[in-house]
Amino acid sequence: MEIKKLNKFLDKYLKISEIDDLSVNGLQVEGRKDVKKICFAVDASLETFKLAKKENADMLFVHHGMIWGGIKKVTGINYKRLKFLIENEISLYATHLPLDKHREVGNNIQFLKIFGINEAIEEFGTYHEIIIGYKGKFEKERNLSGFVSEIEKQLNTKCKILKFGKDKIKSVGVVSGGAASLIDEALYNIDCFVTGEPSHQVYHIAKEGKINVIFAGHYATETLGVKAMTELIGKKFGIETRFIDCPTGL
Ligand SMILES: [Zn+2]
Repeated sequence: MEIKKLNKFLDKYLKISEIDDLSVNGLQVEGRKDVKKICFAVDASLETFKLAKKENADMLFVHHGMIWGGIKKVTGINYKRLKFLIENEISLYATHLPLDKHREVGNNIQFLKIFGINEAIEEFGTYHEIIIGYKGKFEKERNLSGFVSEIEKQLNTKCKILKFGKDKIKSVGVVSGGAASLIDEALYNIDCFVTGEPSHQVYHIAKEGKINVIFAGHYATETLGVKAMTELIGKKFGIETRFIDCPTGL
């Protein structure tokens, strides 16, 4: 498939021009013109680049790219990463906030889908003036501990929990990655707030606001959108796609 056509589809489908982001979303490094295989990963790193090469990928699609605001210097880590991609003619396509926010394949909507939170779905969680998360309700109340076990199993992660709310939960809001600071929006609004990275500063807010918070891992919560894209692109264009799992444990 021609890289131009593929980029055009990705840019439009992910609405990258509509979302202000520090990440330079879209094609960050241009490689081969013909794309036969795409690998998908959470992070741009030399490790994922090497795994993509092993897979003979023509393109690597990531959530956390390597250009944020712009490249200031092509030295050190930047030099090595760029050199590797350019020498191996592997394209790098990155999409950060658009992949959190997306209504079909986004990290947050996928989380609700996977855990059967299907009722009263609404946008939730404003990050840098953009709503990137979702909230919704289970059909029936369920125990917090059962929900946590299911998250750990499905996402292959270890959760950290601030259990200051009700045992039985119905409404859940999720903002993947490092979004603990959005707890203010969750207070008095939902039974359980889910995000990726733990943050010390929200402990007493959660306690005094009597809310449950689940930190399910930055990496783990952001595999969901990337995996959904792996499936979508494979099906839509009939090209080979593969998810590269490269967990940080964080
Ligand atoms: Zn992230």
